[in-house]
Amino acid sequence: MKKQKILITGGAGYIGSHVVKMLGEQGHDLLVYDNLSGGNREAVLYGGFVLGDLADAVLLKKTIADFKPQAVMHFAASIIVSESVRDPLKYYRNNTGNALNLIEACVAGDVPHFVFSSTAAVYGIPSRATVDESSSLNPINPYGASKVMVEQMLRDVALARQNFKYVSLRYFNVAGAAKDGSIGQLYKESTHIITRALKAAKGEFPRLQIFGNDYTTPDGTCIRDYIHVDDLAAAHAAALEFLQAKGASNVFNCGYGHGYSVREVVTVAKKVTGVDFPVEEVGRREGDPPTLVANSEKIGKVLGWKPKYDDLEYIVRTAWEWEKKRK
Ligand code: UDP
Repeated sequence: MKKQKILITGGAGYIGSHVVKMLGEQGHDLLVYDNLSGGNREAVLYGGFVLGDLADAVLLKKTIADFKPQAVMHFAASIIVSESVRDPLKYYRNNTGNALNLIEACVAGDVPHFVFSSTAAVYGIPSRATVDESSSLNPINPYGASKVMVEQMLRDVALARQNFKYVSLRYFNVAGAAKDGSIGQLYKESTHIITRALKAAKGEFPRLQIFGNDYTTPDGTCIRDYIHVDDLAAAHAAALEFLQAKGASNVFNCGYGHGYSVREVVTVAKKVTGVDFPVEEVGRREGDPPTLVANSEKIGKVLGWKPKYDDLEYIVRTAWEWEKKRK
């Protein structure tokens, strides 16, 4: 792939930092734009850094005018589903309103390519066992709705402007850490199941709570499609290459096409850590669909992306190696 100048919002966050690492290793010229509300400066292993907020439209436009990126990758967002149910406006502001600022700045700066971090939450409660990209978008929480609106803006802007193309990547459940142990998940407050299970194994939490055991799934707990963060990073590199080579917009699911229940995740976490941590089954968490599993054929066919780490034990092991080093 030709080397490019890429502006990466949220590049100090969990997924953004893994993408920065991969694209940096490939020799691209990177600039990270992040307000460090959830990210960490030390996680940015390559490129320049601008401490900035996406609400600051002036700084955003100036950053784009000065750097002149060929592509923008937009990771910065609020991501906690249950919080979005309690505080929807935070999500419409941070995810939808700020994306509008960013897209506007891209249009003003003639940035031709945009890669968007979307989510499986756009589908809501799918009617089929796996969802493909043509499934209808019926988010059941404000987090998913805030991302659907951005996809819609991107589609409309791409229709209106010849020289603006985008790829939207709908992430399923991203987990794991870099193999070399350099970066991993570092949220101030962790809500994700794998991280929480590992924190329970470390004794940081007294027990792991399983949210809901009365779902319409074989063991009653929710099923998710867990994808290793480095496979997801490779999907971003493939999306950039696609935009460069084909100059067309598209939308792709990022998952492995099969899922695990929360109970299965707990079993793997106990095996990997060797700790039989206490588990408590409690009521459902707001906003959780019973099953979310990708149909991931399209990304393979169109982008040539193939998973390398489709192995829950590997995912949990890399996360555990990372987590053990945290305080
Ligand atoms: N979950 C759980 N206990 C936890 C955290 C999560 O039982 O401490 C469940 C959650 O209800 C969902 C699944 O694990 O069914 C995945 O949740 P996570 O927050 O990891 O990702 P999400 O699917 O919400 O993006």
